[in-house]
Amino acid sequence: MREYLNFKQANCKNCYKCLRECPVKAITVLGDRARIREDLCVLCGHCTGACSFNAKEVVNDVASVKKLLGGKKKVIASVAPAFAASFLPDFAIFKSALKKLGFADAFETADGAREVTDRYNKLLSGGKYKNLIASACPSIVRLIRLYYPDALAYLAPVVSPMVAHGKMLKEKFPDCKIVFIGPCIAKKQEADESGALDAVLTFEELNAMFKEAGIELATQHAEVAATATETGAKNAARYYPINRGIIKSFDSFQTDYEYISVDGLARAKEVLANIDTLSGMFIEMHACEFSCINGPCALSREKGGFIKATETVRAYAKTGAESKKPYSELSLEYKYKKLEDGRKTPPEDEIKKILAATGKHCPEDELNCGACGYNTCREKAIAVYNGMAEISMCVPYMRERAEGLSYDIIQNSPNGIFAVDSDLQILEINEKAAQLMGVSKSSAKGDSLEKYHNPADFYRALYENEFFTARKVKLEKTGKWVEMTLRKVKNQNLLFCIMKDITEDVDYNSKLDKIKKETAEVAENVVKKQMRVVQEIASLLGETTAETKIALIKMRDTISAQERDEQK
Ligand code: SF4
Ligand code: SF4
Ligand code: SF4
Repeated sequence: MREYLNFKQANCKNCYKCLRECPVKAITVLGDRARIREDLCVLCGHCTGACSFNAKEVVNDVASVKKLLGGKKKVIASVAPAFAASFLPDFAIFKSALKKLGFADAFETADGAREVTDRYNKLLSGGKYKNLIASACPSIVRLIRLYYPDALAYLAPVVSPMVAHGKMLKEKFPDCKIVFIGPCIAKKQEADESGALDAVLTFEELNAMFKEAGIELATQHAEVAATATETGAKNAARYYPINRGIIKSFDSFQTDYEYISVDGLARAKEVLANIDTLSGMFIEMHACEFSCINGPCALSREKGGFIKATETVRAYAKTGAESKKPYSELSLEYKYKKLEDGRKTPPEDEIKKILAATGKHCPEDELNCGACGYNTCREKAIAVYNGMAEISMCVPYMRERAEGLSYDIIQNSPNGIFAVDSDLQILEINEKAAQLMGVSKSSAKGDSLEKYHNPADFYRALYENEFFTARKVKLEKTGKWVEMTLRKVKNQNLLFCIMKDITEDVDYNSKLDKIKKETAEVAENVVKKQMRVVQEIASLLGETTAETKIALIKMRDTISAQERDEQK
């Protein structure tokens, strides 16, 4: 089985929005990545439409259709009536654009829908159905087959308009390839399973092909308008892609039945869950709200929205000449069978174990908040049991755990820590910070920081992004010295401040400085004294030396005189 729809791994941000949107929780979120479980998915496309990160990845059949168009066999298009709202409400122009792409011919799927309405009418007139569910939507059919098998008894055993038309075209053009063109992803899977068509193109894919080939429908309009005569026969089955469209395709109504329309999977699920309690209902069902004009690959959203699209299809359905063509003899009967939902229901003790792993020990602990993407905590526990979800997806539990952990770390930190908002209101403060600032923790929390500390640095941090690390600051009230670090909380206008108490170090250092100063003074005095002594000694020595010198000179002179006298 090929994969029809998934998410691009690189774009997934693990936000669970797709899971929240999925009506049947067919998405696994493992290893920070969302993936669609094809076996459980009804291909409604809601999840990919909901993803804000453009992670949608639909199987692309452009290449295989191009291959068909380049092949030997002629290719015929079956065009869903929703084309009127996604492109333009003129089949002649649309067909001429398709021919430019290489299609041999194109017909309206509404021809098949007309046959299907005829079969519904016959089933209703047979009167054997307590309720009859009619749907052209493969997502609804798959929803019933997978999740509401009891409702299969009410599902009309008739193929969809696409399959009916595929069969009709195959009968008429046995040597041709048939390509369905519509707004829906699920039609790709239905076509593959039915074998009635050779390929399916979504409106998005076709639009890309038009663009690539440089085909402008507006220009096409001018080219065709001059020559086109064919507008197609008027056909009430062109109403199919709008709400109450199937009902509007009936020529007459059975008085025993109430004809109602249900759109959107949430409403469809509610009806299917209660179908046994209803009676005398003909229910047309569409997975998409506003029906197929709002299909996951429709382009009508960019063309004025759903009401505009409804109005366009209604107007288009009224165009063309009246036709009373006889109905086909082709068998369009199809008995839909139950499909297996492979998920297991865990025993109660396993559910309890999984719930306990996220701190849910009694029903009051189960918040059922939906943040994990599941509607209830038990639903999520069952998904965990089935390997489709992870314990850590419980957002409140993980937040509580993270907060508890950070709270413990902050409260037990030997450093003072506090956080303030942009008005410098203290949001959180630990015991040590309160003690350093000389306040009580309970009174400081919620109070303005300005009461306890000069706010200049904090304003500079807030408005001029001036942060600092380990700045020596004296706290006014207590006279304590701290090494202060100021930072902004990432992506928030909050500041947090860490204060390391360095009062003892500062005191010790200042004591040391004092001792050093005193020692230096004493040393200086001693040196000065010594100098004086030295000078005194020197001067004394100087005097003595002079006297000695004089005495010695005197002595020498006396001796010299004596010697001279003796020689004479
Ligand atoms: S919506 Fe789903 S696919 Fe998209 S980012 Fe969120 S988790 Fe991923
Ligand atoms: S396509 Fe629909 S059913 Fe499938 S996973 Fe997405 S939301 Fe669920
Ligand atoms: S409390 Fe947790 S498990 Fe329960 S619904 Fe919320 S996020 Fe999911």
